[in-house]
Amino acid sequence: MFDSTQPITIKNYINGTLIDAHNGSILTTINPSKGTLLGTLPDSDEVDVATAYQAAAQALAGWKNTSVEARSEIMYKIAALIDAHQESLALAESLDNGKPISLARRIDIPRAAANMRFFAQAITQFASESHHSVECLNYTLRQPIGVVACISPWNLPLYLFTWKIAPALASGNCVIAKPSEVTPLTAYLFSTLCIEAGLPPGVLNVVHGLGHRVGEALVKHHDIKAVSFTGGTATGKNIASIAAPMFKKLSLELGGKNATIIFEDCDFDEMIRTTVQSSFSNQGEICLCGSRIYIERPLYEKFKKAFVEKVKNIKVGNPLDAATQLGAIVSKAHFDKINSYIVLATTEGGTLLAGGISLQPQGCENGYYIAPTVFENLACGSRINTEEIFGPVVTLQPFDTEEEVIAATNASAYGLATCIWTNQLKRAHRLAACIDVGIVWINCWLVRDLRTPFGGMKQSGIGREGGLEALRFFTEPKNVCIKL
Ligand code: NDP
Repeated sequence: MFDSTQPITIKNYINGTLIDAHNGSILTTINPSKGTLLGTLPDSDEVDVATAYQAAAQALAGWKNTSVEARSEIMYKIAALIDAHQESLALAESLDNGKPISLARRIDIPRAAANMRFFAQAITQFASESHHSVECLNYTLRQPIGVVACISPWNLPLYLFTWKIAPALASGNCVIAKPSEVTPLTAYLFSTLCIEAGLPPGVLNVVHGLGHRVGEALVKHHDIKAVSFTGGTATGKNIASIAAPMFKKLSLELGGKNATIIFEDCDFDEMIRTTVQSSFSNQGEICLCGSRIYIERPLYEKFKKAFVEKVKNIKVGNPLDAATQLGAIVSKAHFDKINSYIVLATTEGGTLLAGGISLQPQGCENGYYIAPTVFENLACGSRINTEEIFGPVVTLQPFDTEEEVIAATNASAYGLATCIWTNQLKRAHRLAACIDVGIVWINCWLVRDLRTPFGGMKQSGIGREGGLEALRFFTEPKNVCIKL
């Protein structure tokens, strides 16, 4: 599918063809596991966005009038092609993002195929409401919005790219997608699969380039009616401020500072195993990772000992090595940001229990690696406990009462996800209802049913993705009233 021994030339996918930016400008993408050049991508601008818009607008009438079955069939074809190229896509994702290839094989790429299949099937079950009375019959038409923009981040590149475009396409919209400039490779390879699957030209367009240039041009475009965005809270605020006066439909999936709440009565072994994962999977670069770990005081010392021991045994190394559990940080800029938080934690009075250093695994000396890091003794209101670090850094904090831990959890400006570990059923339900987040996991983490609403409250965003919520977002409801 691509030759990983040569620099790769990534192209835009506009009107069914793979092309350079109109002005020929390029950016580079780096393999963070070695700090070496992986390839180049178009440094597109608003002219390329305008071209993509023309293509999408032209394709719209055909695509929205294509039967649901035919749209669904082509999405299944794309899913099958993702499966067929699973190994190449996993390699590409690992090289571009720094994540362990084992993770890309197990999670990212299968989930990308699952996203396409899920919405290919969901659209065939999507129904609208009707309201009857003696006098009249109302029914709701749910029509595609038109041309929509999908902007996705670098942490789960193909996974989140497909999570957005699949419901948009299934419900009859034409899409202009912008993957992160930091990890453009799998979106490019996906474009080639769309061509192979016979997706009509213009139905999906992928424009590569910088967020503040291509992303912002999409948000500012008058005729793009909806923006589905996943990324940082600051970027989300900027997008909202541009889109609001234009009355665009917005779905914003933003940052998190998630709590893991552990009660003494939990299943200890399962909790420890899962908490290591929920803290450090994908180098901690998942918006759902728990970075504030609250432990009921009687369990604190036992937890600390077992957790720190396990964390010190996590194998950090070359992402292509099958034994690697933690790979490279996605970019030098992000590596520097995480390291600055590690320094800050110490100045804020934190006690380092594990990690806190960068690493140079053999053969990857120029890559960006950080040992999984654990601090304690940091105040609830410290910057480490309030700001999103988005890396392998967690804090431990003891608590005494339910009220105290609920207050500490809700003190966050964010409201994305929380994990609760307890074997008391009533307590689990009580806490789930009191915590201001969009997603609560009880005695598990990242268990996903694609039918459920996904998203956050407060600074973690507005709107929900997943299942019918996503299909509702990408359609405009129109009530039709018939006098009887
Ligand atoms: P960014 O906000 O920097 O970027 C996200 C996307 O937006 C990228 O494609 C980026 O392009 C683009 N972008 C950047 N600036 C603009 C702009 N001015 N206008 C329009 N688009 C723009 O986030 P990161 O990529 O750094 O991703 C990490 C963040 O994403 C974390 O905060 C994380 O919590 C959040 N996230 C949230 C999830 C959720 O479901 N709630 C899931 C996953 C991540 P480019 O990269 O090319 O600059």
